[in-house]
Amino acid sequence: MGRRKSEQGQLFYAFDLEAVVPDDHQVRAIAAVLDLSWVRAELASHYSRTGRPSIDPELMIRMLILGYVFAIRSERALCREVQVNLAYRWFCGLGIEDKIPDHSAFTRARNERFREHDVFRRVFERVVAACIRAGLVGGEGFAVDASLIAADANKCRSKPCAEWSILDIDPKTAERAVQDYLATLGDPAWGGASFATPKFIAPADPAAQWTGALRNAAFFAYADNYLIDVKFGIIMDVEASRAIRQAEVGASQTMIERTEETFGLKPEWLVADTAYGAAPNLHFLVDQKNIAPHIPVIDKSQRDDGTFSREDFIYDETHDCYICPNGKVLPRSRGVPGSRGDGMVSYFARTADCRGCPLKPKCCAKSPSRKIARHIHEAARDVARAIAKTPAYEQTRRDRKKVEMLFAHLKRILRMGRLRLRGPAGAQFEFTLAAIAQNLRRLAKLTLHPPDAAAQCVA
Ligand code: SF4
Repeated sequence: MGRRKSEQGQLFYAFDLEAVVPDDHQVRAIAAVLDLSWVRAELASHYSRTGRPSIDPELMIRMLILGYVFAIRSERALCREVQVNLAYRWFCGLGIEDKIPDHSAFTRARNERFREHDVFRRVFERVVAACIRAGLVGGEGFAVDASLIAADANKCRSKPCAEWSILDIDPKTAERAVQDYLATLGDPAWGGASFATPKFIAPADPAAQWTGALRNAAFFAYADNYLIDVKFGIIMDVEASRAIRQAEVGASQTMIERTEETFGLKPEWLVADTAYGAAPNLHFLVDQKNIAPHIPVIDKSQRDDGTFSREDFIYDETHDCYICPNGKVLPRSRGVPGSRGDGMVSYFARTADCRGCPLKPKCCAKSPSRKIARHIHEAARDVARAIAKTPAYEQTRRDRKKVEMLFAHLKRILRMGRLRLRGPAGAQFEFTLAAIAQNLRRLAKLTLHPPDAAAQCVA
């Protein structure tokens, strides 16, 4: 029976950190595609020229990215892991005896310098640019979706909205998450998205939305919005918003415009689920952006009681009227189109036409004449309806799964089922870092194993 010969208390070591990190370790693949050489120059203006030298910002950014790539989101846990893991030390550029920053330094940097410069948005954009240069972005078709991520808000400490007032908040003494909430009250992705009051509110994080959208027990959540390119599932943009449909649709429009401004990329078509199928959003895509909407239309005009639906009436664009199944004309009602506030315009059949009509029982049995409502952006809805009947639509419905798979990866592999930070800024910080991590993992994998047709699956 042998016995270990070396002693742990050895005085001198011959040790090469570069040599001990395996060639096929994931940190090597990610380090090969991550360029942070620009960080110091860009952040220089946020640091004082006098006083004690700060912790290297590139080191902190590397550590945070590492944490999200390997699902270590707690900064305390991250510091402990980097302390003992040689591969993580190598990735961060630390030597074997270098000291690890204290976890509290991350909190300060996140809330001060990194936030002022929006440095993680810059990192995200540079990673996307690297994906574009590597040929991983097709630019023809994008998919958009949102996923609910539980907020760090305790249900037991929530209050009914009627018992809570914004006027009770003192902005000077309020927590940072509450100050963020106050600052975003007029923002279309936050307070301005809807003026409907939720059932409950979390006083510690009032921007978190009380939602029962998962048809399970209701909880406080934020929405993580992704705009992806469907070629290899690269995340083109990420946005945090309130967990309600209006905010998610607004976030999708923001991301489309920002991607066009930042990368000069506007897709030919966009695939999304029914939540994005309201007329104003289809109008934005079709009429303002010239993007083909592969989106199911939200349409309440369909009748299932055997009577005529709106689609049984033919719209005459030249004369702006409908022709009924009996060949009669339904002219548009007087008044300014859309003046009702819901964007709908009404078309009425003449009572004299309907009175003696043999089709009346199937048309308007309970009223003297038939009324048809049409949205002012109905033409955009018609474009979406026509696309839904094409063979390409079947393929794009399958492409949409790629964005859902990214959310599944986010929650199961990166373990982001619940946020660690509070407030809109905290949610945006975490979602951006998670998107950076997902894109880096994809870029590293596809750079190591160049894509062919079979590799076009989600990692
Ligand atoms: S009831 Fe009136 S609107 Fe309906 S089919 Fe007859 S004439 Fe046309």
